[in-house]
Amino acid sequence: MNRRCDIAIVGAGIVGLAHALAAAKRGYKVTVFERDAQPLGASIRNFGLGLVLGQTEGEMHALAQASRDIWLDVLPRAVCWHKAQGSVTVARNAVEQAVLEEFQALRGEAYGTRLLSSAEVGAYGLPTDGVAGAIHSGAEIAFESRVAIPRLVAWLTETYGVEFVFGAQVNAIDLPTLTTSRGVWHAGRAIICAGHDFQTLFPAAYAEPPLQRCALQMLRVANPGLTLGPALMTGMSTLRYGSFAGLESLAALRQQLDETDPMLLAEGIHLIVQQVGESGELLIGDSHRYGEAPAPFNAEAIDARLLQLAESLLGRKLTVLERWQGVYASGPDGYLLKQPAPGITTVAITCGIGMSVSFGLAERVLSTALA
Ligand SMILES: Cc1cc2nc3c(=O)[nH]c(=O)nc-3n(C[C@H](O)[C@H](O)[C@H](O)COP(=O)(O)OP(=O)(O)OC[C@H]3O[C@@H](n4cnc5c(N)ncnc54)[C@H](O)[C@@H]3O)c2cc1C
Repeated sequence: MNRRCDIAIVGAGIVGLAHALAAAKRGYKVTVFERDAQPLGASIRNFGLGLVLGQTEGEMHALAQASRDIWLDVLPRAVCWHKAQGSVTVARNAVEQAVLEEFQALRGEAYGTRLLSSAEVGAYGLPTDGVAGAIHSGAEIAFESRVAIPRLVAWLTETYGVEFVFGAQVNAIDLPTLTTSRGVWHAGRAIICAGHDFQTLFPAAYAEPPLQRCALQMLRVANPGLTLGPALMTGMSTLRYGSFAGLESLAALRQQLDETDPMLLAEGIHLIVQQVGESGELLIGDSHRYGEAPAPFNAEAIDARLLQLAESLLGRKLTVLERWQGVYASGPDGYLLKQPAPGITTVAITCGIGMSVSFGLAERVLSTALA
């Protein structure tokens, strides 16, 4: 193994892979270091949802649109299952519907959304009892992250000659020297894409604004005999995503949940249902617990609530196949980009949308920070 490269990348999650692609496309010799034997972080634990609708208007929305284009170019070339069938956000009552209607009136044109009637929701095979309507976005894409991430690793190796060094923790970088648990390498530059590890390399880069970690609970359930094109969300998601921020009707929704179902607010629960892969199994989540070091223990009450919400939306009983926790970096902005030393860049996505924006962000980093 030649232990020299132009650009060393720390971390083989989506942020690291996106930067590896952007760098390799520009002709750099790239080596990616990953401490685990395979990527095991947030990038394989998510819904596999490239979300455009939820992104805050402006920069984040543009990054998600750019990323979508890159995903749709890369996924077929890397021979990965995917679909581009958008999302449907269902209003389970009049209060949620008011939020969707306000969004459509003010921002629908910018996001390319349209309102659906309750009958149109029924056409997706969903029960319509109590459903007030929905909003449709055609922009979302879906892939199966636990399959797609290893496929991207193989594809980057085969297509661009990117070198991956697994089982190698990078312990220190003093360019051109990288000291790893598998020996010393030499690189012209380094891009650190360490996910929610803020301690190992240049901890001061993650101190301002201060970052936290967010722990989420997820479930995988058997195919309930349903073919879902779009990803499903409900009005609850409008409380979480930046594109809906500032809508007047959100206050009534928050108040309604506070009065009728405070656990949903306390645990940051909202519902996403994503059907993935040839099996048609469903990914269901999620909840959000924040802290410097959130506990690793999944609360059964949260899983039960998520399952109940999904069964109610889909109108059928679900059989759980797997449960897991995911953790990501959390901060006030969409991402944190720092240069802690000459030639070294740290990149952290800080709001749970890394699958949606990383490719676009990596293009920007390579064409600006490294220009
Ligand atoms: C449950 C859940 C659901 C989500 N759903 C979605 C979704 O549907 N859509 C979306 O856009 N986003 C979603 N997200 C967010 C998204 O998954 C993350 O934003 C993204 O995966 C972060 O990617 P990353 O590469 O920064 O982190 P990671 O995937 O965690 O990768 C970081 C990697 O760096 C390695 N590493 C760290 N330090 C070192 C070191 N010193 N040396 C060597 N290796 C190191 C780690 O081992 C790790 O593999 C979700 C997240 C979770 C947890």
